Amino acid sequence: MSPLDAPLARAVLGAWAALVGAVLGSFLNVVIARVPAGLSVVRPRSRCPRCLSEIAWYDNVPVISWVLLRGRCRRCGLPISIRYPLVELLGAVVGWLAWNRHGLSPEAGAEIALVLTLVALAFIDLDTWLLPHVITWPLLGGGVLASALGWSAAPSLASSLWGAGVGWGAFALLSWGGEKILRKEALGFGDVWLLGGLGAWLGLGALLPLVLLASVQGSVVGIVLVLLGKSQTGERGANEARPAGDEGAADEDWVPPKNAVPFGPFLALGAIEWLYGAELLARAFPALGAFR
Ligand SMILES: [Zn+2]
Repeated sequence: MSPLDAPLARAVLGAWAALVGAVLGSFLNVVIARVPAGLSVVRPRSRCPRCLSEIAWYDNVPVISWVLLRGRCRRCGLPISIRYPLVELLGAVVGWLAWNRHGLSPEAGAEIALVLTLVALAFIDLDTWLLPHVITWPLLGGGVLASALGWSAAPSLASSLWGAGVGWGAFALLSWGGEKILRKEALGFGDVWLLGGLGAWLGLGALLPLVLLASVQGSVVGIVLVLLGKSQTGERGANEARPAGDEGAADEDWVPPKNAVPFGPFLALGAIEWLYGAELLARAFPALGAFR
């Protein structure tokens, strides 16, 4: 038994991993808020999203500060979204899980990088209906690199490269074909790069199950949203969908359809579920075992 396996050492290391995760989650909140606006994630220091006053370090402790301040800014007293402590808590869970699954290792670091990047992309897509290239391109490159080093969940570098290529190609074809047939954007190119990145990190075999997981859950949520917002049914959403062709100009005044959700968060969710739960899912649905 290595000294790191003693119960006390395990508890301390686990707590430390969770703390590192929470701090990364705190940084993730900055990424989610600033990257879509094209702002630096380093400067200026954290500010209240309402009154823009700088937040002191003692008011910026992950989760704890939000609870102590009862979700309000110390200066202006306006509410601060529960999403901030939630993302920090998520970071803590991801950090602890990575340490529990891989110990203190580069694999743990790579897993944290992957999952937290997906969390950031999911929230950015929910906010803005965009998956910025400044995040999806490094995601794809990082996936290939991590797989070459044996740090990713992809079984081999070949599987990672095939996963990236087939993931990107399949969604690119779907995006292009959908636009030709439906005369409107069926699948954004952000999703194309995202699936390429997921293939790079998880390998070729993961593509089909994760797209299946994403589609099923996306459909369920979509149907529930339409049922809840009875006054505006899917028809209005369809009419308001992003027009095909001339990207730049059309994107400026494009308004997200009512009662609709972007697909990116579900791709991220499906990937995270497959990453942590492939074994469990394959046991529940033996047909999925072939993709592990
Ligand atoms: Zn404030």
